[in-house]
Amino acid sequence: MRTIGHWIQGQPASEPAGRVGTVYDPARGAQVAEVLLASRAQVDEAVKAAVAAADTWGASSLSQRATLLFQLRQLLDAHRDDLAALVTSEHGKVRSDALGEVARGIECVEFACGIPHLLKGERSAEVSRGVDVHTALHPVGVVAGVTPFNFPVMVPLWMLANALACGNAFVLKPSEKDPSASLLLAELVSKAGFPDGVFTVLQGDAEAVDALLAHPDVDAVSFVGSTPVARHVYETGTKAGKRVQALGGAKNHLVVLPDADLDAAADAAVSAAYGSAGERCMAISVVVAVGGVADRLVEAIAARIPSVVIGPGDDPASMMGPLITAEHRDRVRSYVQGAAGEGARVVVDGAAAPTGAGFFLGCSLVDQVSPEMRVYTDEIFGPVLSVVRVDTFDEAVRLVNANPYGNGVALFTRDGGAARRFERQIEVGMVGINVPIPVPVAWYSFGGWKNSIFGDASIYGPDGIRFYTRTKVVTSRWPDQPSRVDLDFPAVL
Ligand code: NAD
Repeated sequence: MRTIGHWIQGQPASEPAGRVGTVYDPARGAQVAEVLLASRAQVDEAVKAAVAAADTWGASSLSQRATLLFQLRQLLDAHRDDLAALVTSEHGKVRSDALGEVARGIECVEFACGIPHLLKGERSAEVSRGVDVHTALHPVGVVAGVTPFNFPVMVPLWMLANALACGNAFVLKPSEKDPSASLLLAELVSKAGFPDGVFTVLQGDAEAVDALLAHPDVDAVSFVGSTPVARHVYETGTKAGKRVQALGGAKNHLVVLPDADLDAAADAAVSAAYGSAGERCMAISVVVAVGGVADRLVEAIAARIPSVVIGPGDDPASMMGPLITAEHRDRVRSYVQGAAGEGARVVVDGAAAPTGAGFFLGCSLVDQVSPEMRVYTDEIFGPVLSVVRVDTFDEAVRLVNANPYGNGVALFTRDGGAARRFERQIEVGMVGINVPIPVPVAWYSFGGWKNSIFGDASIYGPDGIRFYTRTKVVTSRWPDQPSRVDLDFPAVL
């Protein structure tokens, strides 16, 4: 059995004996590897290596960092297929989707290549006579990144590109469910020429995360995952005095107004609900049908579902792969069964699709859902789309705003005025107007509102640069005139 280990001091590392996790090929339902689960001692060793590397790296020149980032970008580009293949083999998503994930990750490295410009800071000359002020952006030190199973390449790149560009040492704790891609990323970071110890991979589970949160030499933590764990990471990390950004789960609505192009809305709903088997934090899980469009919309969505080809991600004909584990598939299936019991109408039951040995589940469509049903309140994270019917635009906005999550939302309409009102009134961090999955490009930042984020920094883009740097404000005087003693508070003259 293949063993997936850590990456410490620029090379593979494995503990002699300890706990291990099981890694599956979800399309075949079989174990393909075991992954080491770092102990506290291993976490300590890895953090020590990161601390040793952080000082020198933090003092490196901006041109050196940019050169290495450009080099990393080239290597990632050359290994797109290899990275995507690793994602498909352990996560299960189809190859084209995995390639899309890799492309969006590379975009973050391209943004970070501009680090000499991004760290320019500000300067005011002559704030008082002979006095100038400037800001200097310093690295934070050792930064840990904890990532979810659903984007094993993209989410680590959201973090590591900016963290390294800003001069930090970065310790990645990837998901234990699909850990192989993290080691290829580490290999490419080393090949690009980043010094040993600047990038570390620690495989592990909650024990490793808690050890990182408690470690006095970890200065900041970026987390992406489910809301309960995000809250735990935020509360524990900040209590220990660390800077923490923790992005959580979601329940994303697609609101369809009566004037919308219903074919476009139905295409969008099917793509955004069932792409990656619904295992995306920006997946659409609720369609809000406004003012009489519901019957036609439900019919149009249901008519498209049979054309979604379900199969192994490495088969080019497949459009939707399996779920991550058998337990998760069973949990997702139970929501559809539960919805019927709560009075919703199951229009299409994914359990009826052929499954085989892998962790497959077909697309489900559930109509007549109301906000108190569990199929609506919980993040299901699978190919289940609910339809809630409302009478008016205002009712739709109230429904979305009452939801405790606020990650993404989409509106389908041809009415510019309604779109503008929606954009202003909706309490969600990322909004799509006739765009079902509005993941911001790398030079904006990604982050939801409410229970979809803990902390005050979104991830990647400009917020990423702010999160991974500490600002120093320098006030300097180079007087041409003789000095004198003055005990007054320094006033701006
Ligand atoms: P998860 O919360 O179970 O795991 C995320 C990470 O936390 C993993 O590395 C895991 O090892 C670690 N972890 C798990 N339990 C822990 C615990 N009790 N204490 C400390 N660490 C723990 O999430 P997942 O199932 O891997 O990913 C799916 C979730 O991630 C969904 O809720 C999805 O919405 C969310 N997600 C959010 C975003 C976003 O940007 N907001 C992006 C992708 C995924």
